[in-house]
Amino acid sequence: MREEVLDVMLPYYKDIYGNASSVHGFGRAARMAVDDARVEVAKLIGAASHEEIIFTSGGTEADNFTVKGIAHALKSKGNHIITSSIEHQAVLNVCKFLEKEGYKVTYLKVDKDGIVDLDELKKSITDKTILISIMYANNEVGTIEPIEAIGKIAKEKRICFHTDAVQATGKIAFDVKDLGVDLLSMSAHKIYGPKGVGALYIRKGTKITQLLHGGHHEMGKRAGTENVAGLVGFGKAAELAKKELLQEGKKLTELRDYLHKGITQNIEHVRLNGHPEKRLVNTLNVGFKYLEGESIVLNLDMEGIAVSTGSACTSGSLEPSHVLTAMGVDPAETQGSIRFSLGRDNTKEDMDYVLAALPPIIKRLRDMSPLYEKGK
Ligand code: PLP
Repeated sequence: MREEVLDVMLPYYKDIYGNASSVHGFGRAARMAVDDARVEVAKLIGAASHEEIIFTSGGTEADNFTVKGIAHALKSKGNHIITSSIEHQAVLNVCKFLEKEGYKVTYLKVDKDGIVDLDELKKSITDKTILISIMYANNEVGTIEPIEAIGKIAKEKRICFHTDAVQATGKIAFDVKDLGVDLLSMSAHKIYGPKGVGALYIRKGTKITQLLHGGHHEMGKRAGTENVAGLVGFGKAAELAKKELLQEGKKLTELRDYLHKGITQNIEHVRLNGHPEKRLVNTLNVGFKYLEGESIVLNLDMEGIAVSTGSACTSGSLEPSHVLTAMGVDPAETQGSIRFSLGRDNTKEDMDYVLAALPPIIKRLRDMSPLYEKGK
């Protein structure tokens, strides 16, 4: 978390400890702070009103709320959902769950760069389609999807449209009104806010069934005592992200491309996973042929460098990445892929440190790899 974020949160743990739903003065002070945070998050994404922001426990809850909430609210209209084959598990696994309840789900294919096929999307729409859910930017490879174009298709066909913008928020400048989305998921920890805090943008007038039932919190849409300090932190993180997004993006793109260039200049048999240009500013996913990603991760970890294979939520599983598989990456190269995620504290010196540490690791691992011996 950013220092500025922690600073504004601390008083809400120590001094201003009111319940935001209480009517007394301590409660009202907490309520005001929560509402201010809601305004900041609304501003970051261009919502027409702060009342369109519903706070959640993170991106996973926002995605679950959307997919289950729309499926249940529009049950009498239809039972068909369209999503993509490269979504985060927070969307994919809810879809799988709903399939067991009788819903039909189309998982759209993507091209070699990870972009969804708009013609296939149009062809998949039926009179039973009630929801299109396509992520804004992919968490493993960073590819940015054509959300505005999908929004137009959804609007023409009068179908509810959700985008999981957990990775895109704070990194891409957008306005929900231009995107044509009805729902959009966010997560505070991706913009240097606290973990376990997120939000769902719900366009005014969108019919959705509650996920969490209980009290009348969050305008009757999400029950549970508000995590006041966490939300205050999210609000501050959103305010700073809006202010610094462009400048930060430029710096991260330069560092990311410097790292990529250094890797390809010093190591052979490397592939870039993800779209060469339409990609998140901080994401570099590269495949090292003939190797296992896990062994690269462990060796880099010993040098104090933290990278991952796939996403944090899937690492630990030995399954090949569903994203790279959907992009048609050769299974041998899927295995040797790792993701570098850069952040605002990274410097050129950090990139140079990685560029010095990585080539000998790859060489050592390849020298031990029987696949490399055969492929040479
Ligand atoms: N969606 C995407 C694209 C993500 O990258 C993540 C987390 O990494 C999530 C959803 C889940 O968000 P959270 O970890 O806040 O539950």
